[in-house]
Amino acid sequence: MGCQWIFLGGEFVKKEDAVVSVYDHGFLYGDGVFEGIRVYSGNVFRLDAHLKRLYESAQSIMLKIPYTQEEMTQLIVETVRKNQLESAYIRVVVSRGKGNLGLDPASCSNPNVIIIAEELTMYPKELYENGIKIASVASRRNRPDVLSPQIKSLNYLNNILVKLEANQAGVQEALMLNDQGYVTEGSADNIFIVKNGVIKTPPIYLGALEGITRNAIIEVARAKGYEVQETPFGRHDVYVADEVFLTGTAVEVIAVIDVDGRQIGNGKPGKITNELLKEFRKLVTTDGEACYPEKVNHAIV
Ligand code: PMP
Repeated sequence: MGCQWIFLGGEFVKKEDAVVSVYDHGFLYGDGVFEGIRVYSGNVFRLDAHLKRLYESAQSIMLKIPYTQEEMTQLIVETVRKNQLESAYIRVVVSRGKGNLGLDPASCSNPNVIIIAEELTMYPKELYENGIKIASVASRRNRPDVLSPQIKSLNYLNNILVKLEANQAGVQEALMLNDQGYVTEGSADNIFIVKNGVIKTPPIYLGALEGITRNAIIEVARAKGYEVQETPFGRHDVYVADEVFLTGTAVEVIAVIDVDGRQIGNGKPGKITNELLKEFRKLVTTDGEACYPEKVNHAIV
């Protein structure tokens, strides 16, 4: 790949030149919002849903994104095209921008919009074939009435702390509970369990980000005829589940084969998990924003 172009400060700059001020409140205080988005064969998967979440996060923290959603769609597509990417990971960041050292956002007059698109680093195939181990951790999910997990903000310390705990426990991902002990999500992914053919995931109000992949999986599973319940459950329900899996933009659908040392099912990725991953991968190349419509048209003709 040649030079990587990053959208920053209203223009495309080379990766080496893409630097932000130490006075940016995104850096000083984690004051900003972001999205992680994926491109499959030139299709930005569910870009509308990602932008809705980005703009709602910004609205919640009174951050005015200086582009309309339509303009942002075009900028993201342009970033993919400029870097000639087919399969990519996109990071959109909107920070409060440059201000003084005080935390008051009033000193920041220009929000900083950054779009990074880079070649996707795929997770190793073995991870999908073998599944992963997770462990519940001591740190609890942010209480929604304190800092809503729906705000995908640059303040990810809660998630970083649980990731550190997972690392310490020697497993690949953390199982985060809320302050009442109900299961919420992983450090950067949503969780599902399967019991007697019924698929369950925690309701958002318990304290989980409303994942785009989560919602897609719920749709895909219902279309396949499965019963999907958004219902509270605890660690015990996870331990005795027939299947457990996590969902997220980067990881898609990944089987969990061990939770706190309890083997899940027969210790291998479950049938329904594999089926949903297959169905999800059928959806991702068509449902979204095409970056290279000329190619698609050509293929149809
Ligand atoms: N929960 C958290 C805390 C996350 O950061 C992510 C990743 N965005 C997810 C869940 C999964 O969301 P999505 O499917 O939209 O990537």
